[in-house]
Amino acid sequence: MEIIYTLNKLTEKLSQLRRKGLIGFVPTMGALHQGHISLVQRAASENDTVVVSIFVNPTQFNDKKDLERYPRNLEADIKLLSDQGCHVVFAPRVDEVYPEPDTRIFDFGHMDKVMEGKFRPGHFNGVAQVVSRLFDMVKPDRAYFGLKDFQQLAIIQNMVQQLQLPVEIVPCPIIREPNGLAMSSRNELLSCEERENAAEIFNMLSHAGEWSNSKSVHEVEKSIASGINRNPYLETEYVEIVDADTLEMVTDWQQPGRKVVCVAVWCGKVRLIDNYLIG
Ligand code: AMP
Repeated sequence: MEIIYTLNKLTEKLSQLRRKGLIGFVPTMGALHQGHISLVQRAASENDTVVVSIFVNPTQFNDKKDLERYPRNLEADIKLLSDQGCHVVFAPRVDEVYPEPDTRIFDFGHMDKVMEGKFRPGHFNGVAQVVSRLFDMVKPDRAYFGLKDFQQLAIIQNMVQQLQLPVEIVPCPIIREPNGLAMSSRNELLSCEERENAAEIFNMLSHAGEWSNSKSVHEVEKSIASGINRNPYLETEYVEIVDADTLEMVTDWQQPGRKVVCVAVWCGKVRLIDNYLIG
């Protein structure tokens, strides 16, 4: 496994590796956990070369404090990645990814105005900037993204279509702690008690399927929100049931298509997101 910091070195290395076959790419912001590793393992099983990027992208943070507090530990990440089938770790500096400020504005219609987009304005534009820059640098055949960031995945799929990028996006399942809490780099910022109580998020989400048989869409959203808010450690920012492909609001269970319930929840100073596919 080689650790590379510059675009020049990356291009040189990948020009050799590309001859060996397919390149699978896993973009991350580091502070790696088993959720990330599951993406790396999947990429390793389906490609000849695996590239993992570790880059905390400033343009997707609408809150400066959040950017400062974001956990970083390159040494531990490299340790965790060895023996997982990763060939190249790309850990560029900010000016390597953005030699000049990225002023591109993407148009995702309503997709980046709802849920995360509503509470984190500009977030998905920054995500699109960095992911398109990284795709341009790595030129992967396949890229692996977790369903944990459901809205992000939908937006990246939309971006790939819009820009007609020659990369296959592979969605990967959410990896959870034994208590059900979705794994996240931000979990490192939780106290032990908070981590235990945050399990209530998934506990409530997992009732959604059963409740959809007897309650309206709005009632299910309300029941999940009040169930989570009953826990003194937790406060919901939103609970929304949307179409899993278009992210359009769902008002009636009879509407066609897969549905997903998405939540953002504050646990102390840490903002957690999770989701659950219904049906
Ligand atoms: P991040 O480092 O948070 O930007 O995440 C990098 C990638 O890992 C994204 O595609 C995430 O959706 C994915 N990911 C993060 N947490 C999980 C998880 N618990 N299960 C599966 N994928 C995850």
